[in-house]
Amino acid sequence: MKKYGVVVKPSGIADGGMGLFAARRLELNHHIPYGGRKPVVAKTVKNRYPGGAKTLAPYVLRLENGMYLDAHKYRGFGSMANDGLDHSPANAIYCPSCGGVVISTVVEEGEEIFVSYGPEFWIR
Ligand SMILES: [Zn+2]
Repeated sequence: MKKYGVVVKPSGIADGGMGLFAARRLELNHHIPYGGRKPVVAKTVKNRYPGGAKTLAPYVLRLENGMYLDAHKYRGFGSMANDGLDHSPANAIYCPSCGGVVISTVVEEGEEIFVSYGPEFWIR
């Protein structure tokens, strides 16, 4: 599937599971939707994941307006991007307003897209 110019396939990171790759050259500011449906409030997230951070799937992204996107049931391409950790520098960031993955360094066809998860984005 090449919607948004990306494909999902096994990550180049060891034990990284699936990853997000450019299916064509992606220019700066190219947006890849994160997933989830409508943003929800923190209380909704807490109700969905009563065990808190321990049971929270790592798919809940906090937006700048204090709402959350939960891509656990509605995976979007953006939610498939891995954090390259020390091995692969990030070439994308999360858009603070919509949660989409935004290309921050031109990504050539075939390259994996990495974001820095940054603890501030995740509910704790
Ligand atoms: Zn956006």
